Amino acid sequence: MSKTRKNKIFYIGVILIAIYLSVTYIYTTQSVDSFTKQKYLDVSKDMKEELQTLIQEKSEATLLVTIGLAANNSMVSVFKSGNAHYLDLNDFALTLKRYSSLENVWFQLIDKNGISIYRSWTQNKGDNLASIRSDVASMITTPRVISSVSIGKYDLTFKTMVPVYDHIGRFLGMVETLAKFDSIASKMAMKDYQTLIVVDKRYKSQLSKAYTNTFINNYYVVNPLSGNKLLKALRNQDISNYLHIDTYKIDRKNKLLVTTYILKDINGVEMSYFILAKDLQAINMQDIENMKDRILYIATFIFLSIFGILYYVYSVNYKRFIQDQNELLAQSVEEKTKELQQYSDKLYYLAHHDLLTDTPNRLLFLDRLKQQIKHARRNGQSLGVLFMDLDRFKEINDTYGHEVGDKLLIKVAAVLKSCVRTEDTVARLGGDEFTILLINATQLSIIKIVEKIVKSMQEPFIINGIELYSTFSIGISIYGQDGDTPNILLRNADTAMYKAKENGRNSYQFYDEEMTELALRRIELDKSVRRALENGEFEPYFQPKVDARSGKVVGLEALIRWNHPTKGLISPHEFIPFAEEVGLILDIDAYMLKYSMYAILSLQEEGIDTGVLSVNISTKKLESQSFKNELHETIKSIGFDPAKLELEILESQIMKDPDHSQKMLNYIRELGILISIDDFGTGYSSLSYLSQLSIDKLKIDRSFIMHIPEASDDVAIVKTIISLARNLNLELIAEGVETKEQIDFLLKEGCHIIQGYYYSKPLSLSECREYLLSKRK
Ligand code: C2E
Ligand code: CA
Ligand code: CA
Repeated sequence: MSKTRKNKIFYIGVILIAIYLSVTYIYTTQSVDSFTKQKYLDVSKDMKEELQTLIQEKSEATLLVTIGLAANNSMVSVFKSGNAHYLDLNDFALTLKRYSSLENVWFQLIDKNGISIYRSWTQNKGDNLASIRSDVASMITTPRVISSVSIGKYDLTFKTMVPVYDHIGRFLGMVETLAKFDSIASKMAMKDYQTLIVVDKRYKSQLSKAYTNTFINNYYVVNPLSGNKLLKALRNQDISNYLHIDTYKIDRKNKLLVTTYILKDINGVEMSYFILAKDLQAINMQDIENMKDRILYIATFIFLSIFGILYYVYSVNYKRFIQDQNELLAQSVEEKTKELQQYSDKLYYLAHHDLLTDTPNRLLFLDRLKQQIKHARRNGQSLGVLFMDLDRFKEINDTYGHEVGDKLLIKVAAVLKSCVRTEDTVARLGGDEFTILLINATQLSIIKIVEKIVKSMQEPFIINGIELYSTFSIGISIYGQDGDTPNILLRNADTAMYKAKENGRNSYQFYDEEMTELALRRIELDKSVRRALENGEFEPYFQPKVDARSGKVVGLEALIRWNHPTKGLISPHEFIPFAEEVGLILDIDAYMLKYSMYAILSLQEEGIDTGVLSVNISTKKLESQSFKNELHETIKSIGFDPAKLELEILESQIMKDPDHSQKMLNYIRELGILISIDDFGTGYSSLSYLSQLSIDKLKIDRSFIMHIPEASDDVAIVKTIISLARNLNLELIAEGVETKEQIDFLLKEGCHIIQGYYYSKPLSLSECREYLLSKRK
């Protein structure tokens, strides 16, 4: 153990001892104190109880003696004759004094008129007591036993009166016994209790012939002899301090424990006081001393044990203790750091958010825009920035108050958030201006979201029971074409928003006005294509494929035509690319597949040889999960022969994801359906892929056919395609053939199947039927 460590232990020891000593001292003094108090309280209670028992005993004894006298037959003759001179109750009193606890007793006989006819202590008699003593007067009207303590001419006395009746129950008079109190004091003395009985000075005048003549401060002392010691102690003091001691009082000078017992008269007025005392030295404090010892003993034991344990723990676990402390410290540092982090997070949040709507504010919006611009630049993506202003917000605020306005803004923010993806940002710039950042956005996806917002805002907002309608004017800028920095994009979106306001509220506007035009057209197109699908405005036309060697029709290609109710026939070029983009192509292809099969089946059922029916299928359709089932189900339900069905798939599309395409093509072939690669030559197929694909035909694109046989480049390409097909054992067909020269060239090179205006334009079903029938002839 190092020296410093030893010192440390020493100091800790010293401190512990000091703590121990003071704690023990305080504890012991407090305990001894409270035990002593309790002891004193017990002693004073004992004194009072003893006194009470003695008083009780004395009053009962007096009562018994009086009853005994009153019941004596000789009393009846005394009262009847009115002559008591032969009575000598004095002797009786002396006998009592000698043999009983009644030391000083006197007797008096009073007749039924209240006249005293006998007194044991004097010859005086014949006076009327009924007129001066209320107890006597009341006895005459209602004879009964009356027991009381009272102060008379001489002293404080017990008084007991018992009525005397003759043998037929007539009231003759009463026997009264008087007893003094000083015998109680001497009985108390036997228990080592000192007693001083004093009578309240109020009664001084009543005591006209006071028995003892001893007074302290005008208080008459009933027992100057038996209370001798206490009398001496209190004589020179203010006695009033000793008259009302409820618990106890310590008289240090005289070494006395003092308490008081109060005797009240029949009216409840304090009449006399029994001052009771005990010598402090005579009170047994042994048990308290014992307790003090025990406390010290136990405390020492505890102290030594604790110190021992502490010392042990300290010396053995010192290292671990330090380690624990370090860990605790580290932990608390970590906690504090976390707390700090939370505060700074909160601060950051507050600085970057609009607290009303709990959306990012301008600062955070621009920051995110900046980040996303970086990201988009790297990945060649576009971003959409929407600047939005609530129409007539000021009116709402002015009409319904700011509280309603605020609630509206909160609800509007929630609507905006529900319209965008989680990765997009809805921000409130302030007032009724909101912005939205759409990441990885195309013009189309932007329009979709904007349309969703416009639609959602058509629903009323219910605030405080008020139905409110609010709309947005929206300006849109696109990163990549309308600006490269956050500020420019925001400013241009703002500008576009003003244009939107000018054009009438509840509308949106791209910063590039042409785009707005385009957007509007697309929306219009979207709506009308959907309507066309519902209303059956689409119709399959069929273009024959002819074997040029025999002139026989070997197949028909189904090509979509749109019979627009107002615009007439619309070319697929005007809606197929759009339908591809927005996904409507899935429904279009399904429609065409189904209705062209129905149409051709009707011809086949007439016995017309239609050859193979080719249907154009977008790869979007090919990729869709449901296509496999759909294809299978449609063929089955219509009852079309799969061997008479061919799907045309664009080379350019199939090459985007050859692996997936391969799987689908395999499946289609398993159903027994043929596959041809459309617009071949434009998709830069790698030969190795081409050889792996499960396909049946190549369709040479019209662009190569157009300029043959004049254009030598195209001639070379067509020749190459033809030899390629031969090598891969694929059938060939040339499309867009319009002239005899083209046919001659193709036949010469070995491509016999021809599709093109040379033979026929695409035909409606009935035209096609006529065409096929005419060929049969
Ligand atoms: P495509 O599959 O290459 O169809 C051939 C297109 O060339 C047809 O145009 C046809 O009318 C046209 N054509 C045929 N012979 C000649 C000719 O000798 N001279 C000229 N100048 N044109 C000729 P159409 O019907 O306007 O279809 C355009 C494209 O729309 C189709 O090209 C096809 O890619 C797509 N399409 C048409 N119907 C459907 C369909 O039902 N589903 C899908 N996914 N696409 C379709
Ligand atoms: Ca085609
Ligand atoms: Ca084609």
